[in-house]
Amino acid sequence: MQQTDSKVHSPAADASAITSPAKQNFEVKADVPAVAKSVSGGLSDLAVKASTCRLCSLSQERNQVVFGVGNPDADLVFIGEAPGREEDLQGEPFVGRAGQLLDRMLAAMGMGRNEIYIMNTVKCRPPNNRDPKPDEVQACNLWFEQQLDMLRPKMICLLGRVAAQTVLKSDEPLGALRGRWYDYQGIPVWVTYHPAYLLRSPGQKQKSWQDLQALLSGFQKLN
Ligand code: URA
Repeated sequence: MQQTDSKVHSPAADASAITSPAKQNFEVKADVPAVAKSVSGGLSDLAVKASTCRLCSLSQERNQVVFGVGNPDADLVFIGEAPGREEDLQGEPFVGRAGQLLDRMLAAMGMGRNEIYIMNTVKCRPPNNRDPKPDEVQACNLWFEQQLDMLRPKMICLLGRVAAQTVLKSDEPLGALRGRWYDYQGIPVWVTYHPAYLLRSPGQKQKSWQDLQALLSGFQKLN
């Protein structure tokens, strides 16, 4: 993985246009088509290979590997930390409460899961939802890098501290990482709060909405 602490890509991050309070609180009802669960071609083969991974001890307690979900041709990929309990049971990223909030965040941006792709830095659930350990992140990097290589999105959004620190190879806190653009192998990267954090700290939703507006503005400039 490439060192990514430089601000090489900077679509104007115009976070000033906060619109309706409903949007800001992600209370707008999602009116989005069904999830595209398909993975295609090489990505699907990779998912099959990953499904039997035993590279780290998380494989001993997982129910299943949670590879990724959404549109394999998506221009925008969201990356979270690791599966939680619901994700481990259902085999799909972000299907628990945090996932429901993520759906509302996407809806506020006018997007649905069918237009994007969602994955995690680590593919198996850490026990009791603890942070993944460095050796687990390192082991899962094998799948992570190949997955992103095959997806080759035009933009990446990192959700929360663990994903941001892992992908950006940084130990800065999330508050210091958000609000600027990074580069991952030529792909512009944006950082924002994890929806699970927003559930615990709803007062941060306004800042999160600012982040999402800046992401959207950068994304629209690409297309
Ligand atoms: N939190 C994450 O980071 N990823 C998931 O898939 C679910 C919750």
